[in-house]
Order: sequence, then structure tokens, then C-alpha cells
Amino acid sequence: MPHTNELQLLENQGWDARILVCRNGKLVDTFIVVTERFVVLVDTVINPQTAVQMLAYAQPYLVNGRQLLVVNTHADYDHCWGNQLFVGETAVHPAPIIGSHLSPPKFQHEEALAYLAKMKELEPDIFGQVQFTPPTLLIQDKFVIDGDDLTLELLPTPGHTDDHYSVFLPEIATLLAADAAELPYPAARTPDALPQMRHSLAQLAALPAETVLYCHAPVTVGRQLLLDNIAYFNAIEAQCRAALARGLHPQISDDVDVLALVDCPYETAVPDTPEWQAVHDFYKTAGHAEQVRAMLQWLALESR
Ligand SMILES: [Zn+2]
Repeated sequence: MPHTNELQLLENQGWDARILVCRNGKLVDTFIVVTERFVVLVDTVINPQTAVQMLAYAQPYLVNGRQLLVVNTHADYDHCWGNQLFVGETAVHPAPIIGSHLSPPKFQHEEALAYLAKMKELEPDIFGQVQFTPPTLLIQDKFVIDGDDLTLELLPTPGHTDDHYSVFLPEIATLLAADAAELPYPAARTPDALPQMRHSLAQLAALPAETVLYCHAPVTVGRQLLLDNIAYFNAIEAQCRAALARGLHPQISDDVDVLALVDCPYETAVPDTPEWQAVHDFYKTAGHAEQVRAMLQWLALESR
């Protein structure tokens, strides 16, 4: 994935004007929510260079006593590697960073540190300055920010990661789903993350949201993406159940074509529209196969 230090402010395409959508290349969208009391940055992009542009977009609103708050939807690099702008010696605008209590340890894992070192080496212009900075205001359950005119309900929505949060704004029926849903699908990284993710998707789909924005989907897909993601996992589940009923062993070695065995090609599990059929090949092959494997293993666990 080629990265860019550019952060673009998208033109408003119909959502409430108090929400600003920032876009980092083809990688990720982040959000600025302007309330009477607070300006809330939802995620900090990929590095200090992109976070500083996000802060610049927020700056004109940091008047009339409004305070800056930062939220991390989860601890993946494309959502929080700009954190250092807000905490510690590197801070240019100190602010609390609100995030799951499960996030900070993720900055200390050996694999995470090795990943950062590798990224610094591969793309020094992008990641050379990143210093791991975990969130500072740690939350565990639903957490509410009362911005006076707007309420931000931070909702635990585990699955994609166990520390994942989405943000619902009831006054404007707007949901910032983050990575709880994605086009073409949010990836479960382990079999037991799969039921959590589907539960989170169902929870979000049940909210009275009219505008839904995501970190990895076009701003135009709206609420329908939640339903399409739910349908995707339902389709995989049905094919996996049928395959297991035919006697397929749930643990299939990596070099076997699981998609053929389960008879679950990507194309049949997603809507038949150009947006879905034109995704990167990875999502149709290895990425999709990973989800099918996770489903087989989860169904086997569940039936024990
Ligand atoms: Zn992401």
C-alpha cells in the first residue's frame, strides 16, 4: 500500500455541516466533529504530518472557549499514529485522547514495535517520525460526550479489533461506524472475533441512523453498507454450514483452496454492483478465504 502524507478535506456531500470528513489518499477517512463545547477529532490518521493537517482543519473552530478532544476508534496504525501531536513532549496541542482500555497494551506488544520499526525502514518519509502514543482517557463501556448541541455516544463495537469503538450522534441521526463496517467487508482476524463483529454490525444497523460514514468506504454508500456486510457474513455462514454438513473438516491447511471446497466465491457473497466487483483482488482471494476459514472454525467451536 503506497502511503501519502496528504490529508484532504472533503466537500460536504449532504451530511450535517458540523462534521468534517478528512481523507488520506485511498487509505482512510477521519472525522472532525464541531460541537458548541468541543471540537472532537475522531482518529489521528497515520502520522504526525497528517495529524497536523487534521488539526489545521479543526483550528478555525477552536474559538469561543471550545476545547479539543481526541478519540481513537481503535489502535490500528491508520487511526492513531498521529496521537503524538496531543500528548507528551511532542504535543503541539495537548488534549485528552479517549480510547478503549484495551488499546494501550497494543502499543507495547513486541510485534507492534517490530511493525513500527519495519514501517519506518520501508517508508521513512511517512513513518520516520512516528512515536507510539497510546490514548490517555481510557473507557470500557459506552461513553458519552455532551457537546451541548450534539451528543457523541462512543459505542464499543468489537470484532474488527477488540478495542473498537463507533460514534453515534443521535441529534443528527449520524453514525461514524469507523471500521465496524467496510467496503467490501470488515476483516475478522481470529475466529472468535467473527461473532463479535456480526453482533456489532447488528447493533449498529439497529440504530436510527440516517447518515453513516466509514473509515474505509465511499461516503456515498450510507446505511446500506451495514446491511451488505451483514449479508456477506450470512452468505458465508450458509455456505460453510452446508460444507460442514457434507463432511468438510473445519481445519483446512493453508495451501488448499478453501473457497472451492466451500463453494463460496466472493462474487456471490456481495452485491452485484461495480463498486463491489471492482475491489482489489486481495479481497476476492486471500482476504475472503481468511473470512471463510474463520467462519468454518467458529462454527466448529460453536457446535462443540
Ligand atoms: Zn482501518
